[in-house]
Amino acid sequence: MNLSKLIVKARNIVPQLGKLQGYCIFCGEYSNHGYSAKLKTNFTAYPYLQQGEIICPNCFELYNNSEYRKNMFLVSKSEFRTFKREEGKAILLNLPIPPFALYFTRTWKKQGWITLMQKVSFSKTNFFVGLDYEVILVNSLRAKENFQLIENLLEKKISKTELKTGQLKVKSFERLDMDLELLNRLQLFSGDPLWGLCVFLN
Ligand SMILES: [Zn+2]
Repeated sequence: MNLSKLIVKARNIVPQLGKLQGYCIFCGEYSNHGYSAKLKTNFTAYPYLQQGEIICPNCFELYNNSEYRKNMFLVSKSEFRTFKREEGKAILLNLPIPPFALYFTRTWKKQGWITLMQKVSFSKTNFFVGLDYEVILVNSLRAKENFQLIENLLEKKISKTELKTGQLKVKSFERLDMDLELLNRLQLFSGDPLWGLCVFLN
């Protein structure tokens, strides 16, 4: 199950068939009904493409619909929904029955669905999410712990920038009662993609 198949199924799309044969540059699968792989001039995501000659009918749907790069979305076999950043945390913590795919964006314009293509998730405990072109492995327990700690720290007036970078202001050291263990943890977290995502969604 790849992302374009899942989306086509969830949304009951009947893809229009093309006439070309070959391997799809987005999903890597062979199709007898592909379209030309000549991409639009504003396309920049070349590093994320597969070896291939065509665009398969499923991926053709995704490529031609800007909805998938202008939105955050969740898709499972029975549902496709777009959502706002404010809803992202609740969605991450309440996932549907797998398989599913979950895509976040900071830019609201990148073709991040391409990197998520082979990262459909089959577990609610350990799963992948997309964040623009980045693919992040999420452990659900760690995500929960992260969110709790972040909420705590935001209440203590530590800023999101400080949480993201691990670089705390002098005043923040005082606000945390010079808790060295916590300060060390925050520094370790600063390069962690899952931590960065949790800060972004909080
Ligand atoms: Zn394809």
